[in-house]
Amino acid sequence: MTATAYYSVCSPTDPLAVARREVRRAEYLSWRACLPDDEDGHRDWTTHAATLTASIGGTPRFIAAHLDALTTVNMLPGLRTLVEQMHHLDMFHLRKIDDALLDLPTGLREDEFFWDTLDEVLVDYLTPTRANQLLPTPGAITRKIRGVIRSLAQEEDTEEDVEDSASDSFRQYDHADGSVTTEVRLDAINAAAVEQAVRDYAAEHDCSFAQAFTALLLNNVQIKVVLNVYRAHDVPDAPGWLYPAGWLSPDCTRRAARMAATVRDMDEAATAHTGSYRPTGTIRAFVEGRDGTCRWPGCTRSAVSAQKDHRVNHRDGGPTTPANLACLCQHHHNRKSGGQAFYVLDPATGEVFWLFEDGRWVCDDAEGPLAPKQRRWVQSLAQRRARRAERARKRRAPSTSPKETAPTGPPPF
Ligand SMILES: [Zn+2]
Repeated sequence: MTATAYYSVCSPTDPLAVARREVRRAEYLSWRACLPDDEDGHRDWTTHAATLTASIGGTPRFIAAHLDALTTVNMLPGLRTLVEQMHHLDMFHLRKIDDALLDLPTGLREDEFFWDTLDEVLVDYLTPTRANQLLPTPGAITRKIRGVIRSLAQEEDTEEDVEDSASDSFRQYDHADGSVTTEVRLDAINAAAVEQAVRDYAAEHDCSFAQAFTALLLNNVQIKVVLNVYRAHDVPDAPGWLYPAGWLSPDCTRRAARMAATVRDMDEAATAHTGSYRPTGTIRAFVEGRDGTCRWPGCTRSAVSAQKDHRVNHRDGGPTTPANLACLCQHHHNRKSGGQAFYVLDPATGEVFWLFEDGRWVCDDAEGPLAPKQRRWVQSLAQRRARRAERARKRRAPSTSPKETAPTGPPPF
């Protein structure tokens, strides 16, 4: 972090940001004061929650959710130090971090290596690198944590999870107005195929996603689905990334790799160019893979369903190339076209600098699998896995013979 790097929610020159940071700090410290300290760790929880309810209001469940979040932060000492220095994350963000760890495979919960890795990843991810940078959304933080879990989960855990979910994967429940919600739990690859089939059918027939889903299921419609799986070619065993699940488990990555019909080089795609207004499939794949979501500050709509905005209009000479294209959902594309905001895109980093009518500005980081910080994470992941394998190998190794432990350096005289 440089001296001039800070999140916009901690901006020293924005009075609203300054006031809200104080609120976050006070809230954090007051919840911390509620946490039983070590001497009181044995105290009966029911009594403790009852006394807290009397002091601060809220149900025991509400109180427990906040205290659980802080207990999780205690497992992540680097993150705790960062939060207590910057007060950039509010209790909602901290609860989301705790929620993302709820279905942690048992093997990882007890794994010190996992917690060390997660702590490193979150400190890197939640440390600003630019002035007035947008704070990652709770959803983006959740996806980051799930990526770490999937990439480090033992394969047997991953397969077990798939079986568990498959055994209870279809349910329906009704609503007061007589409609019924149908919920299906699928693995990442099938979910991606269903999502794209529904989206394509809805676009082609100008109908809602629910209507498209029903038509596809009941009318025996044949539809061709093309899925873009992103995977680093220069990192051994790199995890794949597929919308909407995000980072894939090793098992899903292997399955996706076996299914791939075409391989496209995204390094080359970064500078691809077409004379037409419509981007080619390769250019679209790059821009979606770089942006991850709509680039409007705080918008979480996926890049896949977003429009590809020519930053400099095509009719004004703006080329159709990734350096001049950014993903904007329909709603925010209208705002940009209406002139309420203007942006500059750094093609080297994928960062977008937004400038608003009132003179405010903010820096938005790219979140897709091709964004430089995600690539860095994949590379460091490979190094961590190697370190973990080395630790495991040492643990498994039989006790070494005196000959093997003999010093190999020069004699001490
Ligand atoms: Zn948007």
